[in-house]
Amino acid sequence: MAGYDYDLFVIGGGSGGVRAARVAAALGKRVGIAEEYRFGGTCVIRGCVPKKLYVYASQFPEHFADAAGYGWTVPEASFNWQTLVANKDREISRLEAIYKKNVEGSGGETFHSRAMIVDPHVIHLLGEDRTVTADQILIATGGRPAAHPALPGHEHCIFSNEAFDLKELPKAIMIEGGGYIAVEFANIFHGLGVDTTLVYRGKEILSRFDMDLRRTLHETMEKKGIRILCHAVSESIRKRPDGRLDALLTSGQTLTVDQVMLAIGRIPNTENMGLEGIGLEMTQAGAIKVDEYSRTNIDNIWAIGDVTNRVQLTPVAIHEAMCFVETAFKGNPTAPDHETIATAVFSQPEIGTVGLSEDEAVKRFADVEIYRASFRPMRHTLSGRDEKMLMKLVVDGASRKVLGAHILGPDAGEMAQLLGIPLKAGLTKDDFDRTMAVHPTGAEELVTMYKPTYRVKDGQRVQ
Ligand SMILES: Cc1cc2nc3c(=O)[nH]c(=O)nc-3n(C[C@H](O)[C@H](O)[C@H](O)COP(=O)(O)OP(=O)(O)OC[C@H]3O[C@@H](n4cnc5c(N)ncnc54)[C@H](O)[C@@H]3O)c2cc1C
Repeated sequence: MAGYDYDLFVIGGGSGGVRAARVAAALGKRVGIAEEYRFGGTCVIRGCVPKKLYVYASQFPEHFADAAGYGWTVPEASFNWQTLVANKDREISRLEAIYKKNVEGSGGETFHSRAMIVDPHVIHLLGEDRTVTADQILIATGGRPAAHPALPGHEHCIFSNEAFDLKELPKAIMIEGGGYIAVEFANIFHGLGVDTTLVYRGKEILSRFDMDLRRTLHETMEKKGIRILCHAVSESIRKRPDGRLDALLTSGQTLTVDQVMLAIGRIPNTENMGLEGIGLEMTQAGAIKVDEYSRTNIDNIWAIGDVTNRVQLTPVAIHEAMCFVETAFKGNPTAPDHETIATAVFSQPEIGTVGLSEDEAVKRFADVEIYRASFRPMRHTLSGRDEKMLMKLVVDGASRKVLGAHILGPDAGEMAQLLGIPLKAGLTKDDFDRTMAVHPTGAEELVTMYKPTYRVKDGQRVQ
């Protein structure tokens, strides 16, 4: 396509955009990519990576406490929030540079600029005040935290973006939301010594996860000292003369805190990009509509990742990028596979999960077997920590296929990654039973639960 400046122009230098740009450039395509903020995108700069670093930071007080049962005397520990923030900043800057270098090293051209589309083949780079042309355009602009303008006092609230870089660690925080971001931050702040309240409008935190895990995590978090108020939302946030905030809740309570963090969802970045002007179709939620190959209604424009609001996870954005390159540049139309995605919630304890929850399985299958084990992990025998690990397999009684695997406890995320393989391969409970255990581990329970704990037949629980 010599008539255009680029074979591919990517808008957005996050997980999906960088992968597509890098792989297409490595194929010899002429690729440009524009990022308005920082290469690496949400995941690297203000999502998965800094979040996990903060999870590690917040776990130390429990490690120190648990050490006593193993004979250690740990002197009184102190924590410096500014050190954590600075070290996090150094690490994400390192990763940011690698992301940019990888694109350039593959032959792609990077632009530090906001981009908008002025015509199906023309992109305006605002930072450079110039236009470029491209044969194919990929939109990978991600999403951002949903604001709550209807909430009186919303201007006093922060979002996950700001939570990473607070000047001071608050003494008390209220987090509103019940999704994984809200739950993870509640555990992070609590672990760092902040008086933490989670406020959620629904009946139980973490909708769409297995109810057993949701309830057990809720109980465990409360036992640690995190206040969880379900069936409640904030009605107003008022700044007090002393600078603190009063959050008035629908339940009638008023919480006085130093920070209110809203984690009530994420919305796709599709505004002010010229998309309406070129007639690009969008969903009611403002996400870009795509077909199974990530192609929009305009033939040469594609979209991947969070901006399409399919499954908002980094590995999904990356997978969609790889499929896009196969389809658009390798003559091998490949639809991304969104089935059976293993995932984790880095709560404390952690959740690792893949496949159908019990409730979902029961809706779809007439005979469901549940294998369930709840036990104290070995590390807590000497530490004395009163925390249970929960493991659960959801099996189709007719075909014996394992439909879902759900874990709450140490290293659950790591286990979910490996469980993703047998579940994706459609293996049966008999395959699990034939697998030798690794002893002594927590994971061995997954292959030693020989008898169903209970069955659910036609929606009715039977023993
Ligand atoms: C707090 C938090 C924790 C998370 N934890 C996890 C986790 O543990 N595991 C997981 O899998 N996922 C996690 N996610 C989700 C994950 O970060 C996203 O799914 C992933 O980053 C999506 O990648 P993307 O390429 O679609 O978009 P993004 O990574 O958001 O990248 C989009 C980029 O486009 C840029 N951009 C936007 N508009 C323009 C424009 N007009 N011109 C130029 N550039 C533009 C943005 O600045 C951004 O850098 C987390 C998210 C958050 C917020």
